[in-house]
Amino acid sequence: MKKMKKDIKNLSLEELKRHFIEIGEKPYRAEEIFRAIYKSKIFNFYDITTLPKTLRDALDNQFFITSSELISKRKSSDSSIKFLIKFPDNSLVETVLIKDTAHGKTRNTLCLSSQVGCAMKCKFCATGQMGFTRNLTVGEIIEQFLLAEKIAGKINNIVFMGMGEPLANYENVKKAIEIITDNKGRGLGKRKIVISTSGIIDKIYKLTDEIKSVKLAISLHAATQEKRDYLMPGLRNYKISNLFEALKYYNRKTGNTITIEYLLIKDVNDDYKDAKDLIKLLRTLKFVKVNLIHFNRVAHIDFKSSSREKVFAEILKKNGITVTIRHSKGEEISAACGQLATDKNIATKFKA
Ligand code: SAH
Ligand code: SF4
Repeated sequence: MKKMKKDIKNLSLEELKRHFIEIGEKPYRAEEIFRAIYKSKIFNFYDITTLPKTLRDALDNQFFITSSELISKRKSSDSSIKFLIKFPDNSLVETVLIKDTAHGKTRNTLCLSSQVGCAMKCKFCATGQMGFTRNLTVGEIIEQFLLAEKIAGKINNIVFMGMGEPLANYENVKKAIEIITDNKGRGLGKRKIVISTSGIIDKIYKLTDEIKSVKLAISLHAATQEKRDYLMPGLRNYKISNLFEALKYYNRKTGNTITIEYLLIKDVNDDYKDAKDLIKLLRTLKFVKVNLIHFNRVAHIDFKSSSREKVFAEILKKNGITVTIRHSKGEEISAACGQLATDKNIATKFKA
């Protein structure tokens, strides 16, 4: 039987070093390979010319560097690029590159997927409508980053705001972050990474202790338990009061500001009482800001965007809360938040 090759990107530098010691090779070879893959973006062992031919043969026998196929690359008028990537088991994920120009400088932010689909079933979200297929591996999370960087140039920031719930795939997301931020490889700064979560409480404690400098964004969207249970049925067992205890812990331990994401949906969560409920909750946190998110159209979902974005923002501001109204980019190519879905029925309707 043909031996299955393994994804070398699943291994941290330490693990790769151990592997080389086990097979009687010099551990510094691991650093060479790490540099070649993560810095130089070499995706074929035979192109790592500093390695002896025998070692290249051995590596190529046992490992692969990339396994995905780039199915499409679509650009929107605001220069966002949506990559549709297929893994060998035919799983499709989307990765979105967002270009932001401020003060004459362009920053590339990459929105990474952490799962194929999502189990949380949020009523407003295209990914939620697909259901859950599987977690992405460490290597598959990293692969999205490597492909985007090879094609589109240097990435400045990463946000885990693509498909899936990153904290439901905690260990793989954590290890992918460790590898991408390893100074011997790509060395992206931990502070350049945002994890967005719908609120998996135990993992918020864990990430506070284990991956400190990473920034946290919480998809809250409702300030009362009843409303949140309606909008985000998969989160029913994660109570808002317990979530806010975890957020206080994160604030205290890291000193980082938490971003609260609040999607404004017409006649669902956009009236005066909703704003007041939100303010009351936010007052319990020391470092917090709010992104009011414009609702993006999703096929088969009847919600509408709210016309009260400015009014809602003013109420928060008057109560001393820092707030920004956000229109996600790439809406016309369905690359905006909540529009990522690779299930044809859900994704195609709004394709340009
Ligand atoms: N599962 C994580 C990471 C995905 S982030 C999380 O929910 O935080 C995707 C972001 O897009 C979340 O803030 C989500 O609430 C938001 N979103 C989902 N559906 C949307 C829609 N239709 N319009 C705008 N934003 C949406
Ligand atoms: Fe999953 Fe986040 Fe979408 Fe909810 S908003 S279904 S948690 S991806």
